[in-house]
Amino acid sequence: MSHVDTEVRPSNFIRNIIDEDLSSGKHSQVHTRFPPEPNGFLHIGHAKSICLNFGIAKDYQGQCNLRFDDTNPEKEDINYVKSIQEDVRWLGFQWSGDIRYSSNYFDQLHQYAVELITKGLAYVCFLTGEQTREYRGTLKEPGKNSPYRDTSPEENLALFEKMRKGDFKEGECALRAKIDMASPFMCMRDPVIYRIRFAHHHQTGDKWCIYPMYDFTHCISDAIENITHSICTLEFQDNRRLYDWVLDHLDDFQAPNRTRQYEFSRLNLEYTLMSKRKLNDLVTRQLVDGWDDPRMPTIAGLRRRGYTPASIREFCQRIGVTKQENLIEVGMLDACIREELNEHAPRAMAVLRPVKVVIENYPNAQPEQIIAPAHPNNEAMGTRELFFGRELFIDVEDFKEEANKHFKRLVLGKEVRLRNAYIIKAERCDKDADGNVTTVYCTYDADTLGKNPADGRKVKGVIHWVEASTAKPAEFRLYDRLFTNENPAAFETVDEVINPQSLVIVNGLVEPSLVSAEAEKAYQFEREGYFCADNKDSSAEHLVFNLTVPLRDTFS
Ligand code: ATP
Ligand code: MG
Repeated sequence: MSHVDTEVRPSNFIRNIIDEDLSSGKHSQVHTRFPPEPNGFLHIGHAKSICLNFGIAKDYQGQCNLRFDDTNPEKEDINYVKSIQEDVRWLGFQWSGDIRYSSNYFDQLHQYAVELITKGLAYVCFLTGEQTREYRGTLKEPGKNSPYRDTSPEENLALFEKMRKGDFKEGECALRAKIDMASPFMCMRDPVIYRIRFAHHHQTGDKWCIYPMYDFTHCISDAIENITHSICTLEFQDNRRLYDWVLDHLDDFQAPNRTRQYEFSRLNLEYTLMSKRKLNDLVTRQLVDGWDDPRMPTIAGLRRRGYTPASIREFCQRIGVTKQENLIEVGMLDACIREELNEHAPRAMAVLRPVKVVIENYPNAQPEQIIAPAHPNNEAMGTRELFFGRELFIDVEDFKEEANKHFKRLVLGKEVRLRNAYIIKAERCDKDADGNVTTVYCTYDADTLGKNPADGRKVKGVIHWVEASTAKPAEFRLYDRLFTNENPAAFETVDEVINPQSLVIVNGLVEPSLVSAEAEKAYQFEREGYFCADNKDSSAEHLVFNLTVPLRDTFS
Protein backbone atom coordinates (compact mmCIF):
# COMPACT_ATOMS: atom_id res chain seq x y z
CA MET A 1 0.00 0.00 0.00
CA SER A 2 1.32 3.38 -0.88
CA HIS A 3 0.88 6.24 1.49
CA VAL A 4 0.84 9.72 0.03
CA ASP A 5 2.11 12.24 2.51
CA THR A 6 0.13 15.37 1.75
CA GLU A 7 1.12 17.23 4.90
CA VAL A 8 3.20 20.29 4.13
CA ARG A 9 6.48 20.14 5.97
CA PRO A 10 7.99 23.36 7.13
CA SER A 11 11.28 24.42 5.69
CA ASN A 12 13.71 26.50 7.71
CA PHE A 13 17.43 27.06 8.13
CA ILE A 14 17.76 24.34 10.76
CA ARG A 15 16.07 21.77 8.56
CA ASN A 16 18.40 22.84 5.75
CA ILE A 17 21.40 22.11 7.97
CA ILE A 18 19.94 18.72 8.86
CA ASP A 19 19.35 17.92 5.19
CA GLU A 20 23.01 18.67 4.48
CA ASP A 21 24.25 16.65 7.47
CA LEU A 22 22.22 13.66 6.33
CA SER A 23 23.23 13.86 2.69
CA SER A 24 26.92 14.37 3.51
CA GLY A 25 26.79 11.31 5.74
CA LYS A 26 27.86 13.28 8.83
CA HIS A 27 24.81 11.82 10.58
CA SER A 28 22.69 8.85 9.64
CA GLN A 29 19.91 9.73 12.06
CA VAL A 30 18.74 12.96 13.68
CA HIS A 31 18.58 13.16 17.45
CA THR A 32 17.25 16.34 19.10
CA ARG A 33 16.17 17.14 22.64
CA PHE A 34 13.84 19.50 24.46
CA PRO A 35 15.52 20.63 27.69
CA PRO A 36 13.16 22.57 30.00
CA GLU A 37 14.18 23.64 33.45
CA PRO A 38 11.44 22.45 35.85
CA ASN A 39 11.03 25.88 37.44
CA GLY A 40 7.60 26.76 36.06
CA PHE A 41 4.90 25.70 33.61
CA LEU A 42 5.64 25.62 29.90
CA HIS A 43 4.42 28.57 27.86
CA ILE A 44 3.65 29.20 24.19
CA GLY A 45 7.32 30.09 23.61
CA HIS A 46 8.27 26.60 24.74
CA ALA A 47 5.65 25.25 22.33
CA LYS A 48 7.69 26.78 19.52
CA SER A 49 10.77 24.89 20.71
CA ILE A 50 8.78 21.68 21.27
CA CYS A 51 7.24 21.78 17.79
CA LEU A 52 10.67 22.43 16.33
CA ASN A 53 12.56 19.69 18.19
CA PHE A 54 9.87 17.01 18.25
CA GLY A 55 8.67 18.01 14.78
CA ILE A 56 12.13 17.44 13.32
CA ALA A 57 12.45 14.05 15.01
CA LYS A 58 9.03 13.04 13.67
CA ASP A 59 9.58 14.21 10.10
CA TYR A 60 13.07 12.71 9.81
CA GLN A 61 12.21 9.45 11.63
CA GLY A 62 14.71 10.47 14.27
CA GLN A 63 14.46 10.79 18.02
CA CYS A 64 13.81 13.60 20.47
CA ASN A 65 14.61 13.33 24.16
CA LEU A 66 12.81 15.12 26.95
CA ARG A 67 15.50 16.19 29.37
CA PHE A 68 14.91 18.16 32.53
CA ASP A 69 17.70 20.64 32.91
CA ASP A 70 17.67 20.44 36.69
CA THR A 71 20.79 22.09 38.06
CA ASN A 72 19.09 24.75 40.25
CA PRO A 73 17.50 22.74 43.05
CA GLU A 74 16.16 25.77 44.95
CA LYS A 75 14.02 26.98 42.07
CA GLU A 76 12.76 23.63 40.87
CA ASP A 77 9.83 21.50 41.88
CA ILE A 78 8.54 18.02 41.15
CA ASN A 79 5.11 19.46 40.27
CA TYR A 80 6.71 21.30 37.38
CA VAL A 81 8.35 18.05 36.26
CA LYS A 82 4.87 16.53 36.09
CA SER A 83 3.11 19.43 34.39
CA ILE A 84 5.80 19.67 31.71
CA GLN A 85 5.42 16.01 30.75
CA GLU A 86 1.67 16.39 30.59
CA ASP A 87 1.93 19.48 28.40
CA VAL A 88 4.35 17.87 25.93
CA ARG A 89 2.05 14.86 25.57
CA TRP A 90 -1.03 17.01 25.27
CA LEU A 91 0.63 18.91 22.43
CA GLY A 92 0.81 15.56 20.66
CA PHE A 93 4.42 14.54 21.11
CA GLN A 94 6.15 11.57 22.70
CA TRP A 95 9.77 11.62 23.74
CA SER A 96 12.17 8.89 22.90
CA GLY A 97 12.77 6.35 25.68
CA ASP A 98 12.74 7.37 29.32
CA ILE A 99 12.59 10.88 30.68
CA ARG A 100 16.13 12.19 31.17
CA TYR A 101 17.41 14.50 33.84
CA SER A 102 20.68 16.37 33.79
CA SER A 103 20.92 15.16 37.37
CA ASN A 104 21.16 11.58 35.98
CA TYR A 105 24.65 12.63 34.95
CA PHE A 106 25.85 14.28 38.16
CA ASP A 107 28.38 11.47 38.77
CA GLN A 108 29.74 11.72 35.23
CA LEU A 109 29.73 15.51 35.31
CA HIS A 110 31.75 15.37 38.50
CA GLN A 111 34.24 13.00 36.81
CA TYR A 112 34.54 15.36 33.83
CA ALA A 113 35.21 18.28 36.17
CA VAL A 114 37.97 16.19 37.76
CA GLU A 115 39.36 15.52 34.26
CA LEU A 116 39.54 19.26 33.53
CA ILE A 117 41.25 19.92 36.87
CA THR A 118 43.75 17.14 36.21
CA LYS A 119 44.53 18.68 32.83
CA GLY A 120 45.14 22.05 34.49
CA LEU A 121 41.98 23.44 32.88
CA ALA A 122 39.92 24.18 35.98
CA TYR A 123 40.64 25.62 39.42
CA VAL A 124 38.98 26.31 42.72
CA CYS A 125 38.65 30.05 43.19
CA PHE A 126 38.10 31.82 46.54
CA LEU A 127 37.36 35.31 45.24
CA THR A 128 34.14 36.71 46.69
CA GLY A 129 31.23 37.35 44.33
CA GLU A 130 32.02 41.04 44.29
CA GLN A 131 35.72 40.45 43.58
CA THR A 132 34.86 37.99 40.85
CA ARG A 133 32.75 40.65 39.13
CA GLU A 134 35.56 43.18 39.48
CA TYR A 135 38.13 40.78 38.03
CA ARG A 136 35.88 39.89 35.13
CA GLY A 137 36.35 43.27 33.42
CA THR A 138 33.82 44.73 31.00
CA LEU A 139 32.98 44.49 27.33
CA LYS A 140 35.56 47.26 26.75
CA GLU A 141 38.19 46.15 29.29
CA PRO A 142 39.79 42.73 29.58
CA GLY A 143 39.52 40.95 32.92
CA LYS A 144 42.33 40.13 35.37
CA ASN A 145 43.51 36.66 36.30
CA SER A 146 42.30 35.33 39.63
CA PRO A 147 45.11 34.86 42.17
CA TYR A 148 43.93 31.23 42.49
CA ARG A 149 44.34 30.55 38.78
CA ASP A 150 47.77 28.91 39.05
CA THR A 151 47.13 26.57 41.92
CA SER A 152 48.47 23.11 41.01
CA PRO A 153 46.12 20.39 39.74
CA GLU A 154 46.88 18.26 42.84
CA GLU A 155 45.90 21.02 45.19
CA ASN A 156 42.77 21.82 43.12
CA LEU A 157 41.73 18.18 43.17
CA ALA A 158 41.97 18.19 46.96
CA LEU A 159 40.04 21.46 47.22
CA PHE A 160 37.32 20.26 44.84
CA GLU A 161 36.95 17.11 46.91
CA LYS A 162 36.55 19.27 50.03
CA MET A 163 33.87 21.26 48.17
CA ARG A 164 32.07 18.03 47.38
CA LYS A 165 32.24 16.85 50.99
CA GLY A 166 30.70 20.04 52.26
CA ASP A 167 33.81 21.46 53.96
CA PHE A 168 33.22 24.95 52.54
CA LYS A 169 30.32 27.33 52.98
CA GLU A 170 28.01 28.40 50.15
CA GLY A 171 29.73 31.11 48.15
CA GLU A 172 33.10 30.57 49.84
CA CYS A 173 34.61 29.14 46.65
CA ALA A 174 33.66 27.80 43.23
CA LEU A 175 35.22 25.69 40.49
CA ARG A 176 36.09 27.75 37.41
CA ALA A 177 37.21 26.73 33.94
CA LYS A 178 40.62 28.18 33.05
CA ILE A 179 40.00 29.74 29.64
CA ASP A 180 40.84 33.37 28.84
CA MET A 181 40.23 36.44 31.01
CA ALA A 182 40.76 38.66 27.96
CA SER A 183 38.27 36.91 25.68
CA PRO A 184 35.87 39.24 23.85
CA PHE A 185 33.16 36.77 24.95
CA MET A 186 32.41 37.38 28.62
CA CYS A 187 31.21 33.80 29.04
CA MET A 188 34.76 32.62 28.27
CA ARG A 189 36.40 34.63 31.09
CA ASP A 190 36.98 31.69 33.39
CA PRO A 191 33.30 30.84 33.92
CA VAL A 192 32.17 29.11 37.08
CA ILE A 193 31.35 25.46 36.31
CA TYR A 194 30.49 24.18 39.82
CA ARG A 195 29.10 26.02 42.83
CA ILE A 196 28.20 25.08 46.38
CA ARG A 197 24.51 24.82 47.32
CA PHE A 198 23.32 23.09 50.44
CA ALA A 199 19.96 22.39 48.87
CA HIS A 200 17.72 19.36 48.67
CA HIS A 201 17.29 18.22 45.06
CA HIS A 202 13.98 16.81 43.78
CA GLN A 203 15.84 13.93 42.06
CA THR A 204 19.10 13.40 43.91
CA GLY A 205 17.96 14.29 47.43
CA ASP A 206 20.84 15.35 49.67
CA LYS A 207 23.57 13.49 47.83
CA TRP A 208 25.21 16.62 46.49
CA CYS A 209 26.12 20.00 47.90
CA ILE A 210 27.90 21.06 44.73
CA TYR A 211 25.91 21.60 41.55
CA PRO A 212 27.21 22.03 37.99
CA MET A 213 26.37 25.19 36.03
CA TYR A 214 24.15 25.16 32.96
CA ASP A 215 26.91 25.75 30.39
CA PHE A 216 29.01 22.89 31.70
CA THR A 217 26.05 20.54 32.11
CA HIS A 218 24.20 21.12 28.90
CA CYS A 219 26.90 20.29 26.36
CA ILE A 220 28.00 17.20 28.27
CA SER A 221 24.40 15.97 28.65
CA ASP A 222 23.87 16.47 24.90
CA ALA A 223 27.08 14.57 24.15
CA ILE A 224 26.24 11.70 26.51
CA GLU A 225 22.83 11.32 24.84
CA ASN A 226 24.35 11.44 21.35
CA ILE A 227 22.29 14.47 20.43
CA THR A 228 23.14 15.54 16.87
CA HIS A 229 21.54 19.00 16.71
CA SER A 230 21.23 20.91 19.97
CA ILE A 231 18.76 23.66 19.17
CA CYS A 232 18.37 26.62 21.50
CA THR A 233 17.40 30.29 21.48
CA LEU A 234 19.64 33.13 20.35
CA GLU A 235 20.68 34.39 23.77
CA PHE A 236 22.99 31.34 23.93
CA GLN A 237 24.84 32.32 20.77
CA ASP A 238 27.99 33.47 22.63
CA ASN A 239 27.79 30.48 24.94
CA ARG A 240 28.33 28.23 21.94
CA ARG A 241 32.09 28.95 22.41
CA LEU A 242 31.90 27.53 25.90
CA TYR A 243 29.74 24.60 24.74
CA ASP A 244 32.47 23.64 22.26
CA TRP A 245 35.37 24.44 24.60
CA VAL A 246 34.15 22.03 27.29
CA LEU A 247 33.67 19.16 24.85
CA ASP A 248 36.95 19.92 23.04
CA HIS A 249 38.83 19.30 26.28
CA LEU A 250 37.21 16.04 27.36
CA ASP A 251 38.67 12.78 25.97
CA ASP A 252 35.27 11.07 25.62
CA PHE A 253 33.89 13.59 23.15
CA GLN A 254 36.32 13.75 20.28
CA ALA A 255 34.14 12.18 17.57
CA PRO A 256 34.02 14.46 14.50
CA ASN A 257 30.22 14.26 14.34
CA ARG A 258 29.55 15.08 17.98
CA THR A 259 26.69 17.37 18.99
CA ARG A 260 26.56 20.94 17.72
CA GLN A 261 24.51 23.87 18.94
CA TYR A 262 22.26 25.93 16.63
CA GLU A 263 20.36 29.03 17.67
CA PHE A 264 17.00 30.43 16.54
CA SER A 265 15.07 33.49 17.67
CA ARG A 266 12.66 33.04 20.54
CA LEU A 267 8.96 33.69 20.23
CA ASN A 268 7.76 37.02 21.53
CA LEU A 269 4.03 37.60 21.47
CA GLU A 270 2.23 40.94 21.72
CA TYR A 271 0.41 41.71 25.01
CA THR A 272 2.08 38.68 26.59
CA LEU A 273 4.80 38.05 29.16
CA MET A 274 6.98 35.14 28.21
CA SER A 275 9.41 34.55 31.01
CA LYS A 276 8.76 31.91 33.63
CA ARG A 277 10.13 34.22 36.31
CA LYS A 278 7.62 36.94 35.43
CA LEU A 279 4.78 34.47 35.04
CA ASN A 280 5.67 33.03 38.43
CA ASP A 281 5.35 36.56 39.82
CA LEU A 282 1.79 36.85 38.51
CA VAL A 283 0.97 33.56 40.21
CA THR A 284 2.58 34.35 43.56
CA ARG A 285 1.04 37.81 43.67
CA GLN A 286 -2.31 36.18 42.83
CA LEU A 287 -2.88 38.51 39.91
CA VAL A 288 -4.09 35.38 38.13
CA ASP A 289 -5.67 32.16 39.37
CA GLY A 290 -2.59 29.92 39.11
CA TRP A 291 -0.33 28.83 36.26
CA ASP A 292 -3.30 27.43 34.34
CA ASP A 293 -5.42 30.57 34.55
CA PRO A 294 -7.02 30.86 31.09
CA ARG A 295 -5.40 34.30 30.65
CA MET A 296 -1.90 32.87 31.06
CA PRO A 297 0.18 32.13 27.95
CA THR A 298 1.05 28.75 29.45
CA ILE A 299 0.15 25.54 27.64
CA ALA A 300 -2.05 24.63 30.62
CA GLY A 301 -3.75 28.05 30.48
CA LEU A 302 -4.35 27.90 26.75
CA ARG A 303 -5.75 24.41 27.15
CA ARG A 304 -8.13 25.49 29.90
CA ARG A 305 -9.15 28.46 27.75
CA GLY A 306 -10.15 26.10 24.93
CA TYR A 307 -7.16 26.11 22.60
CA THR A 308 -6.47 22.77 20.96
CA PRO A 309 -3.10 21.07 20.41
CA ALA A 310 -3.63 21.32 16.64
CA SER A 311 -4.21 25.07 16.80
CA ILE A 312 -1.01 25.62 18.77
CA ARG A 313 0.99 23.42 16.40
CA GLU A 314 -0.50 25.31 13.46
CA PHE A 315 0.50 28.61 15.07
CA CYS A 316 4.08 27.39 15.56
CA GLN A 317 4.20 26.33 11.93
CA ARG A 318 2.91 29.72 10.72
CA ILE A 319 5.40 31.80 12.71
CA GLY A 320 8.31 29.80 11.31
CA VAL A 321 11.87 29.46 12.61
CA THR A 322 14.49 32.13 11.85
CA LYS A 323 17.25 34.11 13.51
CA GLN A 324 15.30 37.39 13.27
CA GLU A 325 14.01 39.07 16.43
CA ASN A 326 10.24 39.29 16.21
CA LEU A 327 7.08 40.33 18.00
CA ILE A 328 4.20 38.22 16.75
CA GLU A 329 0.66 39.63 16.67
CA VAL A 330 -1.71 37.81 19.03
CA GLY A 331 -4.28 37.95 16.25
CA MET A 332 -2.27 35.21 14.59
CA LEU A 333 -2.81 32.82 17.49
CA ASP A 334 -6.51 33.75 17.64
CA ALA A 335 -6.85 33.14 13.92
CA CYS A 336 -5.45 29.60 14.26
CA ILE A 337 -8.00 28.56 16.86
CA ARG A 338 -10.87 30.44 15.21
CA GLU A 339 -10.31 28.73 11.87
CA GLU A 340 -10.24 25.33 13.49
CA LEU A 341 -13.30 25.88 15.65
CA ASN A 342 -15.35 27.47 12.90
CA GLU A 343 -15.01 24.20 11.06
CA HIS A 344 -15.21 21.73 13.94
CA ALA A 345 -17.02 23.23 16.95
CA PRO A 346 -20.67 22.23 17.37
CA ARG A 347 -23.11 25.13 17.60
CA ALA A 348 -25.19 25.83 20.67
CA MET A 349 -27.19 28.69 22.15
CA ALA A 350 -26.30 30.56 25.30
CA VAL A 351 -27.88 33.75 26.58
CA LEU A 352 -25.30 35.68 28.55
CA ARG A 353 -27.48 38.59 29.76
CA PRO A 354 -31.01 37.20 29.84
CA VAL A 355 -34.23 39.15 29.55
CA LYS A 356 -37.57 37.33 29.59
CA VAL A 357 -39.77 36.95 26.51
CA VAL A 358 -43.41 35.77 26.80
CA ILE A 359 -45.07 34.39 23.66
CA GLU A 360 -48.64 35.35 24.39
CA ASN A 361 -50.28 33.44 21.55
CA TYR A 362 -48.34 30.22 22.16
CA PRO A 363 -51.08 27.63 22.71
CA ASN A 364 -49.29 24.80 24.54
CA ALA A 365 -48.69 24.52 28.24
CA GLN A 366 -45.71 22.23 27.62
CA PRO A 367 -42.68 23.19 25.54
CA GLU A 368 -42.29 21.50 22.17
CA GLN A 369 -39.19 19.73 20.98
CA ILE A 370 -37.14 21.09 18.07
CA ILE A 371 -34.29 19.17 16.46
CA ALA A 372 -31.47 21.46 15.35
CA PRO A 373 -28.25 20.65 13.50
CA ALA A 374 -25.04 20.60 15.53
CA HIS A 375 -23.26 22.40 12.67
CA PRO A 376 -24.84 24.33 9.79
CA ASN A 377 -22.43 22.99 7.14
CA ASN A 378 -21.65 19.55 8.44
CA GLU A 379 -24.50 17.09 8.73
CA ALA A 380 -22.14 14.38 9.91
CA MET A 381 -21.88 16.20 13.22
CA GLY A 382 -25.49 15.23 13.95
CA THR A 383 -28.27 17.06 15.75
CA ARG A 384 -29.26 18.33 19.15
CA GLU A 385 -32.55 18.69 20.98
CA LEU A 386 -33.95 22.15 21.74
CA PHE A 387 -37.23 23.22 23.29
CA PHE A 388 -39.54 26.07 22.37
CA GLY A 389 -42.25 27.29 24.72
CA ARG A 390 -44.32 30.14 26.04
CA GLU A 391 -41.49 31.65 28.07
CA LEU A 392 -38.05 32.25 26.61
CA PHE A 393 -34.96 34.29 27.32
CA ILE A 394 -33.07 36.42 24.83
CA ASP A 395 -30.05 38.64 25.34
CA VAL A 396 -30.91 42.07 26.72
CA GLU A 397 -28.77 43.62 23.97
CA ASP A 398 -30.99 42.04 21.34
CA PHE A 399 -34.08 44.09 22.23
CA LYS A 400 -34.84 47.78 21.85
CA GLU A 401 -38.11 49.62 22.22
CA GLU A 402 -37.21 51.60 19.14
CA ALA A 403 -34.28 51.56 16.77
CA ASN A 404 -33.31 52.49 13.23
CA LYS A 405 -33.18 49.93 10.42
CA HIS A 406 -29.51 49.05 11.10
CA PHE A 407 -30.56 47.29 14.30
CA LYS A 408 -31.51 43.88 12.89
CA ARG A 409 -32.78 42.44 16.14
CA LEU A 410 -35.99 42.63 18.14
CA VAL A 411 -37.82 46.01 18.19
CA LEU A 412 -41.33 46.83 19.38
CA GLY A 413 -43.79 46.29 16.54
CA LYS A 414 -41.19 44.46 14.42
CA GLU A 415 -40.32 40.86 13.65
CA VAL A 416 -37.18 38.81 14.11
CA ARG A 417 -36.35 35.14 13.62
CA LEU A 418 -35.35 33.03 16.59
CA ARG A 419 -32.47 30.83 15.42
CA ASN A 420 -33.64 27.27 14.66
CA ALA A 421 -37.25 28.23 15.54
CA TYR A 422 -40.06 30.65 14.72
CA ILE A 423 -40.48 34.28 13.76
CA ILE A 424 -41.69 36.43 16.64
CA LYS A 425 -42.99 39.99 16.88
CA ALA A 426 -42.51 42.24 19.90
CA GLU A 427 -45.80 43.77 21.06
CA ARG A 428 -44.98 45.58 24.34
CA CYS A 429 -42.65 45.38 27.32
CA ASP A 430 -42.47 45.82 31.10
CA LYS A 431 -39.80 47.90 32.77
CA ASP A 432 -38.59 48.24 36.32
CA ALA A 433 -38.36 51.50 38.28
CA ASP A 434 -34.94 52.25 36.73
CA GLY A 435 -36.28 51.86 33.20
CA ASN A 436 -34.64 48.47 32.56
CA VAL A 437 -36.68 46.15 30.41
CA THR A 438 -37.82 43.13 32.46
CA THR A 439 -40.19 41.30 30.11
CA VAL A 440 -40.92 41.53 26.39
CA TYR A 441 -44.37 40.36 25.31
CA CYS A 442 -44.41 38.85 21.83
CA THR A 443 -46.54 36.90 19.40
CA TYR A 444 -45.20 34.15 17.19
CA ASP A 445 -46.06 33.01 13.69
CA ALA A 446 -46.73 29.29 14.06
CA ASP A 447 -46.19 28.69 10.34
CA THR A 448 -42.52 29.74 10.25
CA LEU A 449 -40.67 26.83 11.83
CA GLY A 450 -37.84 26.08 9.40
CA LYS A 451 -39.51 28.10 6.62
CA ASN A 452 -40.16 31.64 5.46
CA PRO A 453 -43.56 33.29 5.96
CA ALA A 454 -46.10 32.12 3.40
CA ASP A 455 -47.10 35.68 2.44
CA GLY A 456 -43.57 36.45 1.28
CA ARG A 457 -42.75 39.11 3.91
CA LYS A 458 -39.02 39.38 4.62
CA VAL A 459 -37.61 39.06 8.12
CA LYS A 460 -33.90 39.77 8.11
CA GLY A 461 -32.69 39.60 11.71
CA VAL A 462 -31.87 36.37 13.53
CA ILE A 463 -31.26 36.21 17.27
CA HIS A 464 -30.44 33.41 19.70
CA TRP A 465 -32.56 32.38 22.67
CA VAL A 466 -33.26 29.64 25.22
CA GLU A 467 -36.53 28.21 26.54
CA ALA A 468 -37.12 29.19 30.17
CA SER A 469 -38.19 25.91 31.79
CA THR A 470 -35.49 23.74 30.17
CA ALA A 471 -32.51 26.13 30.06
CA LYS A 472 -29.67 25.57 32.52
CA PRO A 473 -28.02 28.36 34.49
CA ALA A 474 -24.37 28.90 33.62
CA GLU A 475 -21.49 31.14 34.58
CA PHE A 476 -19.60 32.69 31.68
CA ARG A 477 -16.02 33.83 32.13
CA LEU A 478 -15.26 36.42 29.50
CA TYR A 479 -11.54 36.76 29.03
CA ASP A 480 -9.61 39.55 27.40
CA ARG A 481 -5.91 40.30 27.17
CA LEU A 482 -4.11 40.32 30.48
CA PHE A 483 -2.13 43.44 29.58
CA THR A 484 -3.09 46.73 28.00
CA ASN A 485 0.31 47.28 26.40
CA GLU A 486 1.67 45.21 23.55
CA ASN A 487 5.06 44.89 25.23
CA PRO A 488 4.38 44.40 28.96
CA ALA A 489 7.95 43.17 29.53
CA ALA A 490 9.18 46.73 28.90
CA PHE A 491 7.53 47.99 32.11
CA GLU A 492 9.14 48.11 35.53
CA THR A 493 6.12 46.45 37.14
CA VAL A 494 3.06 44.77 35.63
CA ASP A 495 0.78 46.94 37.77
CA GLU A 496 1.09 49.73 35.20
CA VAL A 497 -0.17 47.57 32.35
CA ILE A 498 -2.44 44.93 33.82
CA ASN A 499 -5.90 44.99 32.25
CA PRO A 500 -8.57 45.32 34.99
CA GLN A 501 -11.14 44.00 32.50
CA SER A 502 -9.21 40.86 31.62
CA LEU A 503 -11.89 38.73 33.30
CA VAL A 504 -15.57 39.67 33.37
CA ILE A 505 -17.99 37.14 34.84
CA VAL A 506 -21.64 37.09 33.82
CA ASN A 507 -24.38 34.65 34.80
CA GLY A 508 -26.83 33.51 32.17
CA LEU A 509 -28.44 30.47 30.62
CA VAL A 510 -27.57 27.73 28.14
CA GLU A 511 -29.64 25.29 26.10
CA PRO A 512 -30.16 21.97 27.91
CA SER A 513 -27.89 19.89 25.66
CA LEU A 514 -24.93 21.66 27.29
CA VAL A 515 -25.52 20.15 30.70
CA SER A 516 -23.23 17.32 29.63
CA ALA A 517 -20.61 19.55 27.97
CA GLU A 518 -17.24 17.87 28.28
CA ALA A 519 -14.45 19.98 29.81
CA GLU A 520 -12.21 21.71 27.24
CA LYS A 521 -14.51 20.74 24.36
CA ALA A 522 -15.28 23.77 22.23
CA TYR A 523 -18.70 25.05 21.22
CA GLN A 524 -19.67 27.99 19.16
CA PHE A 525 -22.28 29.84 21.19
CA GLU A 526 -24.12 31.38 18.29
CA ARG A 527 -23.53 35.10 17.85
CA GLU A 528 -21.35 35.16 21.02
CA GLY A 529 -18.09 33.31 20.46
CA TYR A 530 -16.27 30.05 21.06
CA PHE A 531 -16.54 28.67 24.58
CA CYS A 532 -15.60 25.52 26.47
CA ALA A 533 -16.53 24.12 29.86
CA ASP A 534 -13.88 24.94 32.45
CA ASN A 535 -11.73 21.93 33.28
CA LYS A 536 -11.57 22.75 37.00
CA ASP A 537 -14.74 24.50 38.07
CA SER A 538 -17.51 23.30 35.76
CA SER A 539 -19.95 20.54 36.75
CA ALA A 540 -23.50 19.54 35.83
CA GLU A 541 -24.67 21.34 38.98
CA HIS A 542 -22.71 24.50 38.24
CA LEU A 543 -21.81 25.00 34.60
CA VAL A 544 -18.88 27.30 33.92
CA PHE A 545 -17.87 28.26 30.39
CA ASN A 546 -14.67 30.01 29.36
CA LEU A 547 -14.58 32.32 26.39
CA THR A 548 -11.87 30.97 24.09
CA VAL A 549 -12.11 33.64 21.38
CA PRO A 550 -14.85 35.91 20.12
CA LEU A 551 -16.25 35.13 16.67
CA ARG A 552 -14.33 37.97 15.07
CA ASP A 553 -11.25 39.95 15.93
CA THR A 554 -12.87 42.75 17.92
CA PHE A 555 -9.95 43.96 20.01
CA SER A 556 -8.97 47.57 19.45
P1 ATP B 1 12.05 31.43 30.42
O1 ATP B 1 12.90 32.63 30.24
O2 ATP B 1 10.64 31.61 30.02
O3 ATP B 1 12.18 30.84 31.78
P2 ATP B 1 13.91 29.52 29.53
O4 ATP B 1 14.64 29.57 28.25
O5 ATP B 1 14.67 29.83 30.76
O6 ATP B 1 12.62 30.37 29.39
P3 ATP B 1 13.85 26.69 29.67
O7 ATP B 1 13.02 25.82 30.51
O8 ATP B 1 15.29 26.75 29.92
O9 ATP B 1 13.22 28.14 29.77
O10 ATP B 1 13.57 26.43 28.13
C1 ATP B 1 13.51 25.16 27.52
C2 ATP B 1 13.69 25.34 26.05
O11 ATP B 1 12.66 26.17 25.52
C3 ATP B 1 15.01 26.02 25.73
O12 ATP B 1 15.61 25.34 24.67
C4 ATP B 1 14.62 27.42 25.35
O13 ATP B 1 15.52 27.95 24.45
C5 ATP B 1 13.22 27.21 24.76
N1 ATP B 1 12.43 28.44 24.91
C6 ATP B 1 12.17 29.11 26.03
N2 ATP B 1 11.47 30.23 25.78
C7 ATP B 1 11.28 30.27 24.44
C8 ATP B 1 10.62 31.18 23.54
N3 ATP B 1 10.02 32.28 23.98
N4 ATP B 1 10.64 30.89 22.23
C9 ATP B 1 11.23 29.77 21.79
N5 ATP B 1 11.86 28.88 22.56
C10 ATP B 1 11.89 29.11 23.88
MG1 MG C 1 16.37 28.70 31.33
